[in-house]
Amino acid sequence: MKYLLLAIVLVAAVLWIRHKAAAARRADTAPRTAAAETMVPCAHCGVHVPAREALRDPAGAAFCSPAHRDTGSGTR
Ligand SMILES: [Zn+2]
Repeated sequence: MKYLLLAIVLVAAVLWIRHKAAAARRADTAPRTAAAETMVPCAHCGVHVPAREALRDPAGAAFCSPAHRDTGSGTR
């Protein structure tokens, strides 16, 4: 009976360690991809948006939304 309890504790410890290792791997990869994303400020309101998703006016200024692109960079 003592060994059964010991075996259960060992299995639980191994499962917990594997779970922690998997979580560490996930945390390891997630911020790296987020940090690689270049953020640009909206020329109208200053909100930072990913450069890929920013809307550009003909002059090349970045905007967060079509409304701000149409309004332009004048007011801030
Ligand atoms: Zn904006």
